[in-house]
This record gives sequence, structure tokens and C-alpha cells, in this order.
Amino acid sequence: MIGLENIEKRFGDHTVLKNVSVEIDEGSVMALVGPSGGGKSTLLRCINLLEIPTSGTVRIGSDALTFHPGSKVATSAIQKLRRQTGMVFQNFQLFPHRTAVENVMEGLTTVLKWPTGRARERALELLDKVGLAHKADAWPATLSGGQQQRVAIARALAPSPKVLLCDEPTSALDPELAEEVVEVLSQLAREGTTMVMATHDLRLASTIARQVVFLDAGLVVETGPAREVFKNPQRERTKRFIATLT
Ligand code: ADP
Ligand code: MG
Repeated sequence: MIGLENIEKRFGDHTVLKNVSVEIDEGSVMALVGPSGGGKSTLLRCINLLEIPTSGTVRIGSDALTFHPGSKVATSAIQKLRRQTGMVFQNFQLFPHRTAVENVMEGLTTVLKWPTGRARERALELLDKVGLAHKADAWPATLSGGQQQRVAIARALAPSPKVLLCDEPTSALDPELAEEVVEVLSQLAREGTTMVMATHDLRLASTIARQVVFLDAGLVVETGPAREVFKNPQRERTKRFIATLT
């Protein structure tokens, strides 16, 4: 299980996350929705500790770290927790001078010190899973955006993270290319991959998310089962936001 308890994140005087608590069941998908600037990306970055929360607890499986203002948590503990996560970014962020398969192998060989042969085998399996076995030796620049994002998903999954974090994974893509990424993410969801996904794509969220969290100005305004929140939002703020998307 993945959980955030009473997370606060401040940048200077600006409090970007206010007492956020969420829990994601193992094997479940959570969608983070809400207006731009509401804190979705910061929340994802607090789960993998690319941002260090000002205060609060981050829990991934049996590991938990609690942060307090002014007290420092050991870098090794932060790295250990971060390694249990995989991240997919809006703009793919593949290494341009590495082929598709090398991109997927990277974390396995450099961070986990796997031998090259074993890493390559695992990377090829994952490329096959995202439908890109035939592009293993292609350079990122020769791939479509949808293909690049599928390589990025394979790369994020390579070290078998406990949770896959996706920040607007389809936002940079034309609808047709977004569709192939939605298909891959749906397949992963069906297989029980635990995911937290920030998205503007209501179709993506309603297809694959079990749970929805609506964040506005750093506050959880509404949370609940995806079908209920999208069909019958309880809060005025959520209703207005969903109306702008549909
Ligand atoms: P969202 O992903 O929902 O659009 P973000 O998490 O990116 O929202 O941003 C939430 C707020 O935090 C915004 O007001 C943004 O300007 C601010 N913010 C995000 N990152 C930083 C940072 N590194 N330094 C200062 N302010 C930041
Ligand atoms: Mg964002």
C-alpha cells in the first residue's frame, strides 16, 4: 500500500500542498485531477521524493519516512524509497543518445548494477509488453511521441517499482498517439500495476482509475471512486471543473 499522511509542501511563503492525505491500494489506479497549478505534479514528486515534503509521512509498502521542518532525513533512506517508484513524464525524457533498449536498461545497469545481458533481456521483455520489440535498436528521435512514451513506460517499469507515477502521460500527444499510450496504461492497470496518474484526460482517468482525487490550490477537494466522482461530483468546485472538461 502507498500512502501520504498530512503532507504539506511549501516553496518559500507559498504552500503548494496543504495537509494532503491519500491512500492507494495495491493493484489500484488513482487519478489526480484538477486545475493547473493545483499541486498534482508536486504531489507526484513528493511520492518519489524528487520534492522533499515540508512535513508529513510518505509510505510505500513497509517503508515510511516522516518529514518535519528543519530536520533532515538521510539521503540513503530517500533513495531507498525512491527506488520503489517509477516515473513517466509528460515529455518522455528519454536519453537521446541511447537506443530504445538502452534507455530501458539504463536504471538496471547503473543503479541496480545488473549485468548487461540480464538487463538487456529484461528490457526486451518490457519493450515487447509495450508493443515495441521491433524498435529496440531505434533512436528516440526516430520514434513517434506515442512510441517514445511507451519506451518511457517500459523504462519506468524495468526495476519492478511498487508504484508507477505518471505526470500527464498523454498531454503532449495527438489524440491518435495518446490512444496507444492509453491502451498500454489500461493493460497495465488490468494486470494490477499500482499507479498514480495526474491527468487532464478525463477519458484516460475514467477508463483506468479506480479512485479519483480532485486537487485545487493544494487541497484535496473531493475524493472517491472514479465513476461516482465523474458522474456525480458532490462539490461545487469539482462540478465546475468536470464541466470544463466534458
Ligand atoms: P499542477 O501539476 O497541478 O499544475 P504543480 O504541482 O506543478 O501543479 O504546481 C503547484 C504550485 O506550486 C504552482 O503554484 C507552482 O507555481 C508551484 N511550484 C511548483 N514547483 C515549484 C518550485 N520548484 N518552486 C516554486 N513553486 C513551485
Ligand atoms: Mg503538473
